[in-house]
Amino acid sequence: MHDRFGRRINYLRISVTDRCNLRCRYCMPEEGVLPLTHDAILSFEEILRVVEVAVELGIDKVRLTGGEPLVRRGITGLVAMIAGVRGVCDLSMTTNGILLEHYAGPLREAGLRRVNISLDTLDAKRFSEITRGGDIRKVLAGINAASEVGFAPIKLNCVVDNSSEEDDAQQVEYYAREHGHEVRFIKRMNLSTGEFRVVEGGSGGDCKRCNRLRLSSDGFIRPCLFSDLGFSVRELSPEEAIGRALESKPEFGVSSRNTAFHAIGG
Ligand code: SAM
Repeated sequence: MHDRFGRRINYLRISVTDRCNLRCRYCMPEEGVLPLTHDAILSFEEILRVVEVAVELGIDKVRLTGGEPLVRRGITGLVAMIAGVRGVCDLSMTTNGILLEHYAGPLREAGLRRVNISLDTLDAKRFSEITRGGDIRKVLAGINAASEVGFAPIKLNCVVDNSSEEDDAQQVEYYAREHGHEVRFIKRMNLSTGEFRVVEGGSGGDCKRCNRLRLSSDGFIRPCLFSDLGFSVRELSPEEAIGRALESKPEFGVSSRNTAFHAIGG
């Protein structure tokens, strides 16, 4: 499918939960956020239906994100359901890696093809500061487990203040090179002020090349990270919500007051 500006849209990012087991300073308030109720969150069957419809319309790439996708109970079951949809050629996940040591094998068996793991520093103390209490050893064990079960290439998402020349980023780059992983440097953004920047080593932030739609955990198809537009798959239907999002996808992102990274998943 193509939007009004001729961009081919073939990528759906799905936030499977609003909950997270970290509190990264640039992403979530320290006290967390008021969690959505169980009923507000789409069920696996509802997510599957959206994927089926999206694939019929031209989506062939799906990424699961969050919140933290691995805190959603039964996540490997959802991966298997989506992997079973004919037409999904690329199924990936973005995770903070805290629970990955346990999940890497089951995710691979369920049909996950690729994994991006967030890692902003290699220094345990700095990691704990940035994530407000996270244990870097768990993430490193998760990365190793992912590598051992055959995920390749593993991409590391590294949020930087301004540049990949910063010390923390340099450490991550060195670690990645040593282990044969790739790194994407993501400059810290602010959705509400519209401060968004192109991702180094990735395609995010480049509006002219944007090929994405997003599905929030409470069931809104969002045409753009930097826009307040959203269309409910429950109130409309998946077909209608996707169609409306496609029609209204803005040429350029501006800002979003009603969303945040922890809710939409980056
Ligand atoms: N919990 C998972 C994780 O940590 O990878 C998935 C969700 S997280 C919101 C997805 C990505 O968004 C992460 O790579 C994270 O670093 C990035 N992110 C969060 N807040 C950001 C911000 N203010 N600016 C740029 N990237 C951000």
